[in-house]
Amino acid sequence: MTVRVRLAPSPTGTLHIGTARTAVFNWLFARHHGGEFLLRIEDTDRERSRPEFTTDILDGLAWLGLSWDAEPVIQSERIEAHRAAINQLLEAGLAYRCYASEAELEQMRERQKASGSAPRYDNRHRNLTPEQEQAFRSEGREAVVRFRIDDGATIGWNDLVRGEMRWSGSDLGGDMVIARRAPADQVGDPLYNLVVVVDDAAMAISHVIRGEDHIANTAKQLLLYEALGLPLPVFAHTPLILNQEGRKLSKRDGVTSVGEFKAMGYTAEALVNYMTLLGWSPPEGMGERFTLREAAEVFSFDRVNRAGARFDWDKLNWLNAQVLHDLSAAELRQALAPLWRAEGWQAPGGDESGGGSREAWELELAELLGPSLTTLRDGLEQARPFFERPELDAGASQQLDADGATAALTALLGQLDENASLSVEQAQEQLAGAAAAAGVKKGVLMKSLRAALLGSLKGPDLITTWRLLHASGEDRARLMLAVAQS
Ligand code: GLU
Repeated sequence: MTVRVRLAPSPTGTLHIGTARTAVFNWLFARHHGGEFLLRIEDTDRERSRPEFTTDILDGLAWLGLSWDAEPVIQSERIEAHRAAINQLLEAGLAYRCYASEAELEQMRERQKASGSAPRYDNRHRNLTPEQEQAFRSEGREAVVRFRIDDGATIGWNDLVRGEMRWSGSDLGGDMVIARRAPADQVGDPLYNLVVVVDDAAMAISHVIRGEDHIANTAKQLLLYEALGLPLPVFAHTPLILNQEGRKLSKRDGVTSVGEFKAMGYTAEALVNYMTLLGWSPPEGMGERFTLREAAEVFSFDRVNRAGARFDWDKLNWLNAQVLHDLSAAELRQALAPLWRAEGWQAPGGDESGGGSREAWELELAELLGPSLTTLRDGLEQARPFFERPELDAGASQQLDADGATAALTALLGQLDENASLSVEQAQEQLAGAAAAAGVKKGVLMKSLRAALLGSLKGPDLITTWRLLHASGEDRARLMLAVAQS
């Protein structure tokens, strides 16, 4: 069997992490079997669907490396096929028009609640006579089309994740609405369960892989496949992503869209690696860090857990740090430079400054910050004092008030030559010379220099920091300010 799977996102919002994780499992399964991964944009909810969400979803999938194999199918363009299927069901007597008003349905549900039974449609318009239908229409009532679901029906499938599944027709809430706004001669707007079945069959989807929140839909959809005489796909229902409290991850948990993770400085590699681990356990010996391709080689649903997967920020952070620490300085610079530019930051250029080219300076800064980064955003925040003059924090102010600090910094200022570059050896020599001249320990001077340059006692390697700020002509200005302030 050729494996053909699909992701069927609704463009009613940006790419959600749950949808992206479903995409990951579909992609891995398709690639493992040398099959195809297809996309279908489910834009039939005209009020809520927006083209910019489609763009966001496609961009997000591409960013994650989840390549698809054909132009995405646009569901709204297939409405005639959906209507034809509904007509087929109407003609076969497997579907009918229901004229129940919202108020009647509401009353029905209230009564069911009061008697302690589960809310369901009571199939009241299943067997209307043509005269009754006519009477409702002349009252101006709008019809929906409902598909008959026999209470006695049993539905079963062998789920790739959950094993044998059994449902009874009586658990499906009564005859299901498959189209809204359906006057006598038309079938109006087809709805989700119907269109998904028609489209999955038309796209020859072999495996439907989606979140377990669709399990009840699958039961309904299986009845539709049967009624329409369509071949059945295999189903796999993947566990939901849960928040720290064990509830389904939702908007209330803050970050949920792939774009937000990107903006927080997570790399596509780490995020996609992490999503793969959300519900799938790699085989023994594989470790937790791998590429999509590596995961695809060994992927199977046997190792997908049934239980929901708790979102674990520590693990995502760990993976992201690993990915960043493995980047070369050039790659890191390439990732960070756009963030720096977006702040309007310019690296010092020109050669008289002694710093070499802009690129070399950025490369050195990227290399300096690299080991301490968890996210790319850290590479923005930690780079800030290299582009913007920092305020002194409390620790730095205190350090600059320490005995001998001002004298040592003044001595250092006396040795600075803005017109020459500063090598590591020269920097070391100048530190030793200034400390001796001021009669302070070299450690005191180093701490004071860090305070003066970065406004803080924490930061990356001091000599490299100094050389970078020397290249941008900032070391003198900051030292003078520090001396003046102390
Ligand atoms: N449009 C549906 C959703 O986004 C698709 C579900 C499915 O895969 O059938 O939930």
